[in-house]
Amino acid sequence: MKQKWIFFLLVLILCFSGCSSPTTTTEEFFAMNTVMTITIYENNQNLISKAKQTVVNLESLLSVTNPNSEIYKANQGNGSITHLSEETISLLQSAVSLSKETKGLFNITVYPAVKAWGFTQNKNRVPSEQEIKECLSLIDMNYIQIKGNAITLPKGVMIDLGGIAKGYAADKIAKELEQSHCTGAVLSFGGNVKTVGKKPNGELFQIAIQDPNNNANAIGTLSVSGNTAVVTSGDYQRYFESNGKRYHHIIDPRTAAPAQSDLTSVTVICSSATRADAYATALYIMGLEEGLKFVEEQPDIEALFITKTNEVYKSSGLSSIFQPDNQSYIFH
Ligand code: AMP
Ligand code: MG
Repeated sequence: MKQKWIFFLLVLILCFSGCSSPTTTTEEFFAMNTVMTITIYENNQNLISKAKQTVVNLESLLSVTNPNSEIYKANQGNGSITHLSEETISLLQSAVSLSKETKGLFNITVYPAVKAWGFTQNKNRVPSEQEIKECLSLIDMNYIQIKGNAITLPKGVMIDLGGIAKGYAADKIAKELEQSHCTGAVLSFGGNVKTVGKKPNGELFQIAIQDPNNNANAIGTLSVSGNTAVVTSGDYQRYFESNGKRYHHIIDPRTAAPAQSDLTSVTVICSSATRADAYATALYIMGLEEGLKFVEEQPDIEALFITKTNEVYKSSGLSSIFQPDNQSYIFH
């Protein structure tokens, strides 16, 4: 009889440990001009609140529109020195080196053009040729002078970390979660996904890649482990239409206008979301041929390209981890 009870108890324990779904805490909020979602594989609202606070603090440092932010003050410097925090300086230095790596295509001095096309104030318009010419004369990474913790920008030159800030926020929060012994999480910051730790069932994280032509659909799924960034830049993410023409938010620093790319989106996979964010923006501007070459030359990044002709190309390292699932696309 005793044995029967022990057997019954064992079945009960096995059932509860195997069948019950582990707790997850998810929160969606709006920050950095986008919808952000944090999912943590444990019941811990404190961790989510801390992560949200990190985003809010970063936004107040880096925003181009908040008059109290460090970037806003630097942009109003009119040729004089602006002192910045160590964190902002360090991110600026990353932006400078990522710009060099991408031959200036990732270029944070595009801000006068971003502003002229109305992408910051949501007052979209097509600037005149004269305005574009003026913007072009202000776009050059060599204008940025950093000495210690101070930055100097010539009059009219303005910087925008919008092409890298969401990735940086994801890296920073991932690190904080690890330090808080969080076992697993997924951060999704408007096209920037970062995985942390492990899923409770030990399986790989499945990251859906958005169909640029239908935001309710995916084109397939990437299976990735923890500490991986999957970052997408695309012309469908922010755009406006004028006289039947579409204008998007990724600015080609060589023209001060929305980049004329053969792509609709690029997804970059690497361990750093900060780097992936900058590369995704630059690769979109490079286009398919140059972009694929760039990625194959780098040992630690992979990328998936979706063209305007609804074709999907991927770098060699993605063959085994990408699962296509959309009949409207041709997969190469
Ligand atoms: P992303 O969404 O990461 O592709 O970045 C696009 C955002 O970065 C835009 O909304 C601008 O704020 C800024 N941006 C636009 N063009 C560039 C560029 N060529 N280099 C760096 N940042 C850019
Ligand atoms: Mg980016």
